[in-house]
This record gives sequence, C-alpha cells and structure tokens, in this order.
Amino acid sequence: MKIICIGQNYRLHCLELGHKIPEEPVFFMKPDTALHRNNDPFYLPDFSRDLHYEMELVVRINRVGKCIEERFAHRYYNEVGLGVDFTARDIQHKQSAAGLPWEAAKSFDHSAAISPEFIPIEQIENIQSLRFKCNLNGQTVQNGDCSDMIFTVDKLISYVSRFVTLKIGDLLFTGTPAGVGALKVGDQLEGILEDRKLIDIEIR
Ligand code: MG
Repeated sequence: MKIICIGQNYRLHCLELGHKIPEEPVFFMKPDTALHRNNDPFYLPDFSRDLHYEMELVVRINRVGKCIEERFAHRYYNEVGLGVDFTARDIQHKQSAAGLPWEAAKSFDHSAAISPEFIPIEQIENIQSLRFKCNLNGQTVQNGDCSDMIFTVDKLISYVSRFVTLKIGDLLFTGTPAGVGALKVGDQLEGILEDRKLIDIEIR
C-alpha cells in the first residue's frame, strides 16, 4: 500500500506557510514504513528541532483505479478517518528553499499516523461537509471544515490517478487546515471528526 498526501489544500494554511494558492493539487508520497497506528505514543525524531502536527481527513481507497473521472471518484473510497501528517518543518523549509524534494521532512518512519477507527462512507451524508478539529493539550488549534478544501476529495482522486494507479488499501491524506504548530515532549494530540475522538496520541 501507499500513502498519498495532498499539500496546500486549504487557503489559510497556504497563507500561514507563505505559499501561493495552488492551481492544481500538490501531492507527495509516504512509504508504508511511515505508518503509525493504534494511537501509539509518537517519539520526536532527533533530526528535527521543529516537528509539526498537521491533522487531516484521510480516505481509504477500496478499488483499483487509473485515470478516474471525477464523477466516478466516490466509488473508489469506502472509509474516512483522521490522520496526522507529522512534518519536520525546519527540514521542509530548508529543502523547499533549495528547490529539493521533501522526503526527509515528510516521509520518515512514523510520519503518517492514522486513526484506529475509520468510518464507513455509508454513515456520512456528504464528505465535503465534514468538520474535524485538532486539540493540543486540550486547546483547539486546528478547525477543519471540508467545505474549505481548495480541491474536493473526488477531484483529488481524479487528479492523482492520472499519474499514479490507486490500489486497494491506499490512504489519501487530503491536506491540513490552518493552525499547524510545533510539538514538544509531553504534549497530547487529539483529532476529533464531528463528535468522535479518533486520534489521541501522546508525544514523547
Ligand atoms: Mg499535510
């Protein structure tokens, strides 16, 4: 399986990082070794001094597809959960400034946390009207409203599948809203989708 991540999919997050609003989706990959499951504690890696959380809506792909038309994209995912795109922001800024790839900043071991529970799509009325939030030590730091996505989930699936075949079990991280920030030892990171707490990770 592979993990496909979308960057810069919420206007305010683009602005907080100093990016332009993209005209086409921006995506990158994390390897399967990046998966972090079961709300296990997350250990801050020693190669970064500025390790950020990015809470994101994640969809799980359940059909093989290539060049999927947007109007059929909803047939290619069946579950929705939350994930954390852990990011070494100091490394990302350095790589970006030099025009280099982001893998060291984005694709390291355990950099893709997913919620233990995913919600079947049948239980969701409209994926683009879902709301989620990220709490850091009990304070809400990110308020996600999927209607604010620059590119809808279906558009992302259509776009990415022009380049990369989607396979069963692949995960699509759909981008993070504004409010990203640094983590420190002892922090508690929670992700809430509507009224369900799905992510609850201790930072060590
Ligand atoms: Mg992200």
